[in-house]
Amino acid sequence: MSAPCQMLLPADQTLIAGVLAGERRALAKAITLIESTRSDHQQRAQHVLNTLLPHTGQAIRVGISGVPGAGKSTFIEALGVWLIERGKKLAVLAVDPSSSLSGGSILGDKTRMEQLCQHAEAFIRPSPSAGSLGGVAEKTREAMLLCEAAGFDVIIVETVGVGQSETTVAGMVDIFCLLQLPNAGDDLQAIKKGIVEIADLVVINKADIDPRATAVARAQWRNALHMLRPASPNWLPPVLTASALHKEGVAEFWAAIEQYQAALTPSGEFAAKRQHQATNWMWQLIDFGLRQHFRHHSRVQESLPGFAQAVAQGQTTPAAAAYALLDMLNH
Ligand code: GDP
Repeated sequence: MSAPCQMLLPADQTLIAGVLAGERRALAKAITLIESTRSDHQQRAQHVLNTLLPHTGQAIRVGISGVPGAGKSTFIEALGVWLIERGKKLAVLAVDPSSSLSGGSILGDKTRMEQLCQHAEAFIRPSPSAGSLGGVAEKTREAMLLCEAAGFDVIIVETVGVGQSETTVAGMVDIFCLLQLPNAGDDLQAIKKGIVEIADLVVINKADIDPRATAVARAQWRNALHMLRPASPNWLPPVLTASALHKEGVAEFWAAIEQYQAALTPSGEFAAKRQHQATNWMWQLIDFGLRQHFRHHSRVQESLPGFAQAVAQGQTTPAAAAYALLDMLNH
């Protein structure tokens, strides 16, 4: 089924042509359009995205996560320059939960990756700061599609090890990588938070500082990953080491990304993962939309405080209250 067709505005046709031609200004403008919370902008953005959809999907989507200070921007910069030297075009997007909550940014995007910023083959976009339908992460998903339409063949989605953002990013990329410090205890934190389960690849960075601690951390991570049932029968997440500052470990990292794609493609797993992510994304937006619709419904708004009080005081059951409120949507 195709999306509802509507005439594109001439300005949007120009925008689409610019994105397809790989013009960074057009790409930046298109991302600004999808990030806008204005409903007319939202409508236009969806038409633009739908028109560009056949031109998406050809990039490899890589998630990189780690605590602040783990070396993410140093690593991404080293990787980016290395990839550009090999003829690739790279886009770096960010999901930073702090930017939507407080307006501040843990990732501090603007001053980072200065070398990479200067390359025409690189496009760096900070995390959107305003929450809208489905939140900041959904905007990043859409920005990722725009970057693909603009011909970027590697998309890096960077996030911090805070809150839900890691799971969210793991749900939008092909391969999710954890950047770790060689500190004892870091791995335990990750195990506790359930992050080990979603890691497809672990990199112990700053190996130059303490090679012994790095070797210990690597062994601990390998053990932890061996104890888990792998998400794919065709892939046991490797544990690599790197020194982003000295640009070491980048080639090995990229080799592992290519191995991952090669290991999951013949069985159809690679494609199935993307299909699953796309339908999940749709359901997340439906859930979010229904919730919004419910909360803004006038009868619900009138009745909700009374029902909440009755539930709190034990005068009615939570189920009876929920059904009564939901039923109001039908009238
Ligand atoms: P982010 O917050 O995860 O993006 O971390 P940054 O990339 O900003 O790095 C934090 C600090 O660690 C900076 O001062 C970097 O120069 C330093 N750093 C990053 N990678 C390495 C590395 O491999 N070795 C050493 N010694 N320092 C590093």
